[in-house]
Amino acid sequence: HTKDSGRNGYTFFTESMHVSANRQLKLLQELRRALQRDEMVLHYQPKFRADGGGVIGAEALVRWQHPGLGLLGPDTFIPIAERSGLILPLGDWVLDQACAQLRQWHDAGHATWSMAVNLSPLQFSSTTLLDTVKATLERHGLAPHHLTLEVTETTAMQDVEASLQILHGLTAMGVKISIDDFGTGYSSLLYLKRMPATELKIDRAFVRDLEDNAEDAAIVSSIVALGRSLQLQIVAEGVETAGQRDYLNELGCDLLQGYHLGKPVDAEAFLRNAA
Ligand code: C2E
Ligand code: MG
Ligand code: MG
Ligand code: MG
Repeated sequence: HTKDSGRNGYTFFTESMHVSANRQLKLLQELRRALQRDEMVLHYQPKFRADGGGVIGAEALVRWQHPGLGLLGPDTFIPIAERSGLILPLGDWVLDQACAQLRQWHDAGHATWSMAVNLSPLQFSSTTLLDTVKATLERHGLAPHHLTLEVTETTAMQDVEASLQILHGLTAMGVKISIDDFGTGYSSLLYLKRMPATELKIDRAFVRDLEDNAEDAAIVSSIVALGRSLQLQIVAEGVETAGQRDYLNELGCDLLQGYHLGKPVDAEAFLRNAA
């Protein structure tokens, strides 16, 4: 405790905080069992070519079908999983499940589709990541270039030299790397230049007001120019209107994702929508 919090320190333990700490603990205990109980599910959001071409693949987004609380989004449990280390087994499950799904889709005739999987900081710094990714791809008979791993700038910045080594290992294997939520982190252009990424994903904060906000449009077009010169594919996320879609295509984005084009849905609905 600092001097300031000393005398009022007890206010940290108000009843509501206590309850919420208990609730967090309960959620953690339940999360530990959720994997065994088959309560985790993946939803898939399509990635589209910006020029009006079709679906090029999907991003896997994890959900928890909680027995009492219903379908929970990742924001409610990924932070707990990250703090507790549970993200490691959970992340292994996500990767395996997503690759198993892609295998099925390839077998069903969509052999060009790729799959994107999000990695948290702890997963990204895990010493077993490279081996896990390699083994998972082999288990499902998938070519590495069909897998994209999404890391945020912030994740990749936590330990720059270690991150670069991991990223080089992954790209040497042939796996693709996407820098997620681009523009919201702290990565320097110098670092970006050194990063063996294949894709920049423009954060939806820049897409939201794109049509009325000249600054946002300028930022998007600068990111596109930057990405071009670094030979990266440019994706925009959070596309909610036809206007945004057209504008982002005009500004030179390669791929688009968003509710306007396709919401995250279960595997069955994904295939139905794509057909
Ligand atoms: P993200 O990787 O940036 O994923 C995009 C998020 O934006 C998803 O939320 C998606 O449902 C949502 N989204 C997509 N299109 C739109 C749109 O048009 N408008 C709006 N408002 N939102 C849109 P979701 O599924 O709740 O995931 C939140 C975050 O949780 C993800 O952000 C990712 O960082 C993390 N996450 C999700 N699945 C996993 C996972 O399997 N492992 C790890 N480590 N993190 C995950
Ligand atoms: Mg993502
Ligand atoms: Mg994102
Ligand atoms: Mg995000």
